[in-house]
Amino acid sequence: MSETAIVFDIQRASLHDGPGIRTTIFLKGCPLKCLWCHNPEAVNPAQQLFFHFDKCMQCGDCVAVCETDVHHLTDGKHTIDFEKCTLCGKCVEACNSNALKIKGKAMSIDEVMHEIMADIDFYKNSGGGMTLSGGEPLLQLTFCIELLKRCREKGVHTCVETSGFISAEQFQKILPWVDIFLFDYKVTGSTEHQKYTGVPNERILENLDVAYQHGIPIILRCIVVPGINDNDLHFMGICDLDAKYPDLKGIEILPYHTMGNNKRTSIGKEETLTDLETVPAEVAGKWVQKLKKLGCEKVSLSR
Ligand code: SF4
Ligand code: SF4
Repeated sequence: MSETAIVFDIQRASLHDGPGIRTTIFLKGCPLKCLWCHNPEAVNPAQQLFFHFDKCMQCGDCVAVCETDVHHLTDGKHTIDFEKCTLCGKCVEACNSNALKIKGKAMSIDEVMHEIMADIDFYKNSGGGMTLSGGEPLLQLTFCIELLKRCREKGVHTCVETSGFISAEQFQKILPWVDIFLFDYKVTGSTEHQKYTGVPNERILENLDVAYQHGIPIILRCIVVPGINDNDLHFMGICDLDAKYPDLKGIEILPYHTMGNNKRTSIGKEETLTDLETVPAEVAGKWVQKLKKLGCEKVSLSR
């Protein structure tokens, strides 16, 4: 039987997830708990209810159909008891404002390939292809390998965006099928890494090394969060990797933004880093200049 995965989004015509025009497949599930996570709906590997607060008209239709008393309209406020949701989907169907969704859908390789192949001409003309993202896509390793193989067969360029937090044995299995990695480098120093992401980084750095030694092109992706890793130690850590791996295809700086917090509320999670705002472009630009001055020539600003 064909493998399936829990997919929480498919973005076509993506320009930010690897070279050219791409279709990005977002898989659910992540072993990290980054404080700044911009896709919090990806962390839980299972399906979950997602509520767009701003779209709700407070009509009460969801309250009427829900058999487990999840929705409450009190004093002009719509509150949700996410824990009680059985994912029956009745409120999603009843809501005419599109305020409710079930995030995550089991999709087969064939179904995902169908989406990917729809844009084959764009890939050919732009040097693009398919990107696997998440969450941590490699948590659903068998599906990933099968999908990457199918892309290869069809001549579709493959990119994997990963935290690198996966066993060495599992990581080896994916290597033959990856044309380029977008590899996260989040925090310098394993203790600090554990503090802000929930996991140490030794295994991540080992996998980065293995991918590089294997000759797979790598773009390093570095989220920078004020007060957490916008410091000299981390910037030097990025420069050290640049020096150690001179054939890196690029180093992208991703400035912190607050979008993740809106989504956390939508799945019933507490907001994090509430004292932080989205990083202004001029501040992010200064980080890039600083890294260049430190000798990191291939650094650039990403979204
Ligand atoms: S999906 Fe079903 S159980 Fe969950 S809130 Fe909606 S109606 Fe209630
Ligand atoms: S059905 Fe939709 S619009 Fe109406 S109260 Fe529920 S979430 Fe809001």
